[in-house]
Amino acid sequence: MIKTEGITKSFGSLQVLKGIDLTIGEGEVVAIVGPSGAGKTTLLQIVGTLDAPDSGKLYINGTETVRLSEEKLAAFRNKNIGFVFQFHQLLPEFTALENVMIPALIAREKPAVAEKRAKEILDFMSLADRMSHKPNELSGGEKQRVAVARALINNPSVILADEPSGSLDTRNKEELHKLFFDLRDQMHQTFVIVTHDEQLANDTDRVIHIKDGVIHNS
Ligand code: ADP
Repeated sequence: MIKTEGITKSFGSLQVLKGIDLTIGEGEVVAIVGPSGAGKTTLLQIVGTLDAPDSGKLYINGTETVRLSEEKLAAFRNKNIGFVFQFHQLLPEFTALENVMIPALIAREKPAVAEKRAKEILDFMSLADRMSHKPNELSGGEKQRVAVARALINNPSVILADEPSGSLDTRNKEELHKLFFDLRDQMHQTFVIVTHDEQLANDTDRVIHIKDGVIHNS
């Protein structure tokens, strides 16, 4: 599903990633952990094709993404990769349903098809009665679940999550984590999650430790 070979990345004279080799299979939930500044977010950005490595290769679903043009890469990213961030980043002027539909509409899906699928996903997440609410009318946990629904709308190969439960209280945190594992069990959804949450990391299929720009075990 995801394979990286010898990924390196520097910012100025600071080499953050010093050769990352990683293979993640379909339906795996993988946690990336490590000290602050270790390069976890940088690696996630590169795997998400939001940033390019200085050297190395990245394959997602068999496609070598580093070779794609900017335009092709944007379309590839929208279809194949879902993102969930620490702060939900929903668009405030749109309803929950509309927020979830947006990546499908960008992928030129028919609006009726996008709407049907968005409703199914929101229903799966017990958010059926929140679809016409705008983000400021939703609780923190609900907003984060809408963000996960948005990440799922195009049936991505992988969902990349950067501290997804970092802004949630304990109950909402546990609910969100349960949702990840439900999606893995019922839809074989693959997740790569950067997290400081030890409980979440312990519950994942595999923990990848990054330190000094390399993986210490996987
Ligand atoms: P982590 O997610 O493990 O805390 P990051 O990947 O965010 O670490 O950052 C790793 C290092 O790279 C840090 O020292 C950070 O300051 C630096 N860094 C990250 N992004 C940039 C950038 N765009 N420009 C310059 N330095 C950056």
